[in-house]
Amino acid sequence: MQRRDFTKADGRSLYLYGDEAHTLPPLQEGASAEFGRPHLYWHPLRHDWMINAAHRTRRGFAQHREVCPFCPGTAERATGEIPFTDFEAAVFENMFPAVHMGVPEPPPAQVPTAKAVGVCELVIYTPEHEASLATLDDRRRELVVRVWADRYRSLYEIPEVEFVYVFENRGAELGASLEHPHGQIYALPYVPRLIQTESEAFREAAVLADHMARLEDANIIAEDDSTVAFVPPWARYPYEVWVVPRRIQPGPWTFDEAEIGSFAGILGDIAGRYERLVEGREFPYMMLLHAAPKGTEDSFHFHVEFCPPLTPAHDFRLVATVDYGLLGVESSLEASAAHLKSI
Ligand SMILES: [Zn+2]
Repeated sequence: MQRRDFTKADGRSLYLYGDEAHTLPPLQEGASAEFGRPHLYWHPLRHDWMINAAHRTRRGFAQHREVCPFCPGTAERATGEIPFTDFEAAVFENMFPAVHMGVPEPPPAQVPTAKAVGVCELVIYTPEHEASLATLDDRRRELVVRVWADRYRSLYEIPEVEFVYVFENRGAELGASLEHPHGQIYALPYVPRLIQTESEAFREAAVLADHMARLEDANIIAEDDSTVAFVPPWARYPYEVWVVPRRIQPGPWTFDEAEIGSFAGILGDIAGRYERLVEGREFPYMMLLHAAPKGTEDSFHFHVEFCPPLTPAHDFRLVATVDYGLLGVESSLEASAAHLKSI
């Protein structure tokens, strides 16, 4: 894989990844970033940091742009975020970052505050506006996995970064403001409580490997020699699917070639099943890559959680209660697994 490092006119980094070296000349650049003054504040009961990034509300403008800011540019018009006429995959710093390396000191508050130092990046999977993780060909999807691995390596080298969160929020229900296939990366100066809890579980036992050794066929949605996708019996959402490498490893940066191909293929398989689940509309999901936070690489078992917030009851309405500690799923996990396997 080749990487070209480019600095945008407003100082943000842009990385162009591909099988071929990227040598196109840059075009005129469009809008510039709004870094804002984000900060962290402490939730004394959840024992977790929250991010206040008020300037991000202004990114709504992007929805109404006539031209997609993630599509390649042309010589005739000011470009969006990627000032080139073509690329294979691209990563750049978010125009409205929730955390960034140049943040000011946090304001005082009634709870502890801290600097929202870190990096927010966007990962553009392909130049094709109409594509998705499901429709990319194998080579392109593998490129996305290689890009993630490279970003993990680079971002974990930053001393302030404790956890790198790679994710995709797909669909308007989950706040995705642009439809061009893309995901995000938050390189955070703290480990979210949820990830800390997982780290503790993995330190006590090889929870996922143990479970995978006794997986029931009915729960397995897709598998091959290196990777398994299954509906976990502890699912919190109907149609929740986890994609897990068979070998315990901290993240995609330790995948071998076979594991990259396997992982990419099974991610595409699951995304495709979701696309076929509801006719005529986008099936929204959060795709969350849980990799090892710094210092837990020996025991953490990397996995991907697909969390779709729709319930099949009542014609796929939104599940609104799961994150308030109230309900998990109201439908049968067995039925969800059977539906996903059949589609
Ligand atoms: Zn586009």
